[in-house]
Amino acid sequence: MDCLREGWFSEFSTLWPGQSMSLKVEEVLFHEKTKFQDVLVFKSENYGNVLILDGVIQCTERDEFSYQEMISHLPLNSHPNPKKVLVIGGGDGGVIREVVKHPQVESVTQCEIDEKVIEVSKKYLPFMSSGFESPKLTQHIGDGFVFMKQHLNEFDVIITDSSDPIGPAAALFERPYYVLMKKALRPDGIVCTQGECLWLHLELIKTMQDFCKTLYPVVDYGYCTIPTYPSGQIGFTLCSLNPETNFRKPIRSWTNEVKKTLNLKYYNSDIHKAAFVLPEFARRILETEANGENEKSLQHNGDQLD
Ligand code: SAM
Repeated sequence: MDCLREGWFSEFSTLWPGQSMSLKVEEVLFHEKTKFQDVLVFKSENYGNVLILDGVIQCTERDEFSYQEMISHLPLNSHPNPKKVLVIGGGDGGVIREVVKHPQVESVTQCEIDEKVIEVSKKYLPFMSSGFESPKLTQHIGDGFVFMKQHLNEFDVIITDSSDPIGPAAALFERPYYVLMKKALRPDGIVCTQGECLWLHLELIKTMQDFCKTLYPVVDYGYCTIPTYPSGQIGFTLCSLNPETNFRKPIRSWTNEVKKTLNLKYYNSDIHKAAFVLPEFARRILETEANGENEKSLQHNGDQLD
């Protein structure tokens, strides 16, 4: 466990070379290598219990709400009637907890590749995994990419709450997966995926936005702040089959009373709108159209699935 030294956890990855987030460890609660990844849970000094997969922070009890609320409510509050929702990944349960808060949502299907993540989250991250108790939920253990191939015209909203594009989640950041999600959506469906960090992955985000624009009439990138993700920021790739969708304007907003009942700590209508306001360095890149040559190769890569 190279990442654990002298009472500190440090997060090293080629995805953020030359920098590393560290958290002070009080106690290692669980550590095991599964068929898919290295799973570590520790109790930190200031961030509660922390889930680590392959050396990368997935969530901490102190700040998880920002990501989980935004990846769920940005797409759900952009869809007029999100009845059937699919969550790919999301083994900690936080996204399910948020999705089932919507009265319009009748059923949620989850496809998580690693059963062990669900098991340890139930034990060590009870506030996140509380969503697993919902009668709306059906769970499936398997690869999200394979699952998507087997489902056509079924879901109003698909949320991909995956780890980073190294290891089991790599294929979930590529065009063929977005082609499959498009087919798994019902008319006017929406997808929202873990969309990585503006400070670190602008090129990847640009590539993804460009190939998404060849598949969906409306594509956008929103983000939230969160202290324990690399560089303190993470985004969401949002795509809609409905040309009328405007992700920047939520179609339902909640009163303060409702927000309290839903136990929201980050999401509100103002932050929904603000999530799409990009800093200039990012806007310049993301709002420039792909050139003709690029466009052709983006369309070609994965055409067999269109
Ligand atoms: N919010 C976190 C982040 O941005 O780093 C992600 C949290 S969630 C724990 C990520 C989950 O995706 C993990 O439980 C992992 O097992 C799951 N996962 C990775 N690849 C997958 C795949 N191909 N199909 C289904 N689930 C996958």
